Amino acid sequence: MLIVCAEEERVEAELGSGALVCPSCRGRLGPWGYARRRVLRCASGNRSLRPRRARCRGCAGTHVLLADLCLLRRRDEVSVIGRAIEAKIAGAGHRVIAERLGVPKDTVRGWLRRFALRAGQTRVYFTRWAVVLDPELGGVMPAGSGVADALEAIAVAVRAWVLRFGVGEVWRVACWLSGGVLLCNTSCPFPLVR
Ligand SMILES: [Zn+2]
Repeated sequence: MLIVCAEEERVEAELGSGALVCPSCRGRLGPWGYARRRVLRCASGNRSLRPRRARCRGCAGTHVLLADLCLLRRRDEVSVIGRAIEAKIAGAGHRVIAERLGVPKDTVRGWLRRFALRAGQTRVYFTRWAVVLDPELGGVMPAGSGVADALEAIAVAVRAWVLRFGVGEVWRVACWLSGGVLLCNTSCPFPLVR
């Protein structure tokens, strides 16, 4: 799997020109059909996505190209999930957050649990990204708890990304940096930071 931008025409052009790189071997990716259609629950309503598949010209491996709106195995848009994480760290409970976002409370609880379980790893991973993106960076300040530290590391890494590459929506950038596995369990490790 590879996280790409949500603009389908741009992805198509990048695939055609060999600009997308294989996450396994760094070879060039070319078009290879489509993955099954899926519905993503977005803040603006449901959105039907038909992710592109790509095949590597080097290792012949195939990869699903997932828009940076989606996290692996999550049905909700990453910015909605991100808003829930921010609200939790600001002190809200999962019931209130669920009501505010119009999402089932068990779904919200699942996101928050997963984020908390992986908070230490998330902090380390995004801090590494922050330093790669901005070697001048002094470090990430502790924010007071495991989950708050993880969110702070994400914020610092995204800020470093934006300073380098231009404006980007925070959680979409975070999704891309995480390789889409921000809320997966440890059987889906974060990708290597290159
Ligand atoms: Zn490859």
